[in-house]
Amino acid sequence: MYKFSLNTDKEGLYNITKEVEEAVYDSGKREGLCVVYCPHTTAAITINENCDEDVCKDIIFALNKVFPKFKEYKHDEGNSDGHIKSSLIGVSQTLLIDNYKLVLGTWQGIFLAEFDPPRNRNFYVKII
Ligand code: ZN
Repeated sequence: MYKFSLNTDKEGLYNITKEVEEAVYDSGKREGLCVVYCPHTTAAITINENCDEDVCKDIIFALNKVFPKFKEYKHDEGNSDGHIKSSLIGVSQTLLIDNYKLVLGTWQGIFLAEFDPPRNRNFYVKII
């Protein structure tokens, strides 16, 4: 299993495609599955547009429109919106490996979504 860390300074999507691709390359696996997982409750792993950075900003914008910081939340840490977004987006993704490479569409990238910055985040890559 491969472990990576990153520091986040603001809410957003952090591109981790390169790290995941390096783990797949290092594993030497010709075919298989690649699980990307983050062990956090206010972060998530997602796959989306890797070309136009505005897409990542729009995803965060839309999530914040739908899930604002309601004053009625009971959780006293003040980050219930982050917990909700983490559960909805999900803390892992499973990708296919074919011919030693991840099967990703031309415009797809892998992202760690930060919903409660700043934090030091970890994510794991398991090749099966
Ligand atoms: Zn909390």
